[in-house]
Amino acid sequence: AWDDCIVVVARTGLGTLNHTLLTVKALAERGHQNIALVLNGPKHAANEQTLADTLGAVCGLQVPFFHFPQTESKQGFCQSSFELVSWLIEQDSVMQAKQSKESNLAESLDRQHCWHPYTQHRSYNSPSGQKMFVESAKDNRIKVRGHGWVLDGIGSWWSCLIGHGRPEIGAAIAKQQAELDHVLYASTAHSPAAQLSQKILDFAQQPQFKKVFYSDNGSTAVEVALKMAFQSRRRSGFENAHRFISLNGSYHGDTIGTMAVGGSAEFHADFEPLLFKPLLIEPVLQDADKSVLEKRLSEFDALLAGRSDEIAGLVVEPLVQGAAGMWMHDPVWLRAICSKAREHKIPVVFDEVFTGMGRLGTPFAAQRLGFAPDLLCLAKGLTAGAASMALTLATKAIFDCFDGDDASSAFLHGHTFTGHAVACAASLASLRVYDQENLVGKAAELESCYLDWIQKNQSKDCIQNARACGSVLAFEVSRAGDAAGSGYFSDPRQKQKLMQAGLESGLFLRPLGATVYLTPPLSVNPEELLLRLDQSIERYLKT
Ligand code: PMP
Repeated sequence: AWDDCIVVVARTGLGTLNHTLLTVKALAERGHQNIALVLNGPKHAANEQTLADTLGAVCGLQVPFFHFPQTESKQGFCQSSFELVSWLIEQDSVMQAKQSKESNLAESLDRQHCWHPYTQHRSYNSPSGQKMFVESAKDNRIKVRGHGWVLDGIGSWWSCLIGHGRPEIGAAIAKQQAELDHVLYASTAHSPAAQLSQKILDFAQQPQFKKVFYSDNGSTAVEVALKMAFQSRRRSGFENAHRFISLNGSYHGDTIGTMAVGGSAEFHADFEPLLFKPLLIEPVLQDADKSVLEKRLSEFDALLAGRSDEIAGLVVEPLVQGAAGMWMHDPVWLRAICSKAREHKIPVVFDEVFTGMGRLGTPFAAQRLGFAPDLLCLAKGLTAGAASMALTLATKAIFDCFDGDDASSAFLHGHTFTGHAVACAASLASLRVYDQENLVGKAAELESCYLDWIQKNQSKDCIQNARACGSVLAFEVSRAGDAAGSGYFSDPRQKQKLMQAGLESGLFLRPLGATVYLTPPLSVNPEELLLRLDQSIERYLKT
């Protein structure tokens, strides 16, 4: 519990409260989150009560505090730092007991009141249910109750690319919160959003993008792009445009519009009557036969022939379809369909909520692919997982379709937290870390380690279809007796066993059906990651 802990020792007496609160607040504002307080000197019950009441509110952190037992010395203060530190270390057990009591309470509250996403609560709450209580997160690890610190193999649902609990992010958030937390963003402006817009366009290295529209999660970033594509296309002389082309197996979010363009029947079937219908096309995956590529391209030509005027946009998760099970595209096919859409002036939307922010070894998948889309959606990875924010990047041509004298021709869309100043500050701090630590380059290095790993493992029967793209590694795993099929719902017990084997090997995995994948924070140590992956597979095969 004392790892990286800053211990503030405060003498009790006149001024204790003020000095202590200011000191702890200053530390918290500089991003220190692990702080403990020791009161040294005669006890003052009212002061302790005030500290208990105000510490959390003043610095926004849980700060445990201890009172050093009064000494024999004349002044009643402990004079020896050695004595103080030794005593404090003994308090470890006190802290642990307190934490364990708190987690027990939290677990019981969770059972009573919380409704988790993608969770069947009957099995989740059963004694054998897969419930992970996460106590803390730091750098590339999360601390799971009963398992200790484990590597975050999936970057917390793909959101954490620079590591957890980075002090730079904490400091930026605290500073911004003190200056300007949030203000409406309709006809107002502020520095964090203005700066971030420029920085993200620099990071994107795609000169076609000139405008940045803010929202708050991946689904809303895609909804925004769909509406922009639809309206801009209709305002450019294609009044009949009303259908999107999207990919089979694609996932763009859980709101109604994003479900409609998604190709994941497993998730969205029940909502069918509510959803507008996209023209779904089958993606061509890596290593597909040349004949498959040619067939799909001529099908695409046929789809556009004569009816391209009806098409409002082409929406793709470029190069890797994450939620489908890390399907990796043949780039030749993807570039070709995007170029064909472009020939027909159809807006091309890249949903880079998963593939963006350096995950594939280039700032965005667009560069790796070599195609410049008209709209691009970002969310995960923007704020180091510390705040919720999303962006839709647009070209000037799209923006100009909404520019004019008439208020009703503006883009009439906005969310309460659009352009949230604190989230922008977190994102700016995160982009500085990308620069300082060359994180995009690290994703490319990870890919070469993965390729070696694939080479070493390709003859193993239990590992099939191993594939890598930047920091994403994926494969299907099977043992004798596993249920056939690799869909999301194929065999929940298999997923549970894989997760358990991972945790026991110090690695947090969350397979998609039988597809095991890694999407770690980019600064992870590849050797440790792959060693723990090997151990997880070995353990799984023995279960
Ligand atoms: N698009 C893609 C490609 C995604 O992977 C996701 C989330 N997994 C989304 C959109 C939706 O993002 P959110 O969960 O933040 O709404």
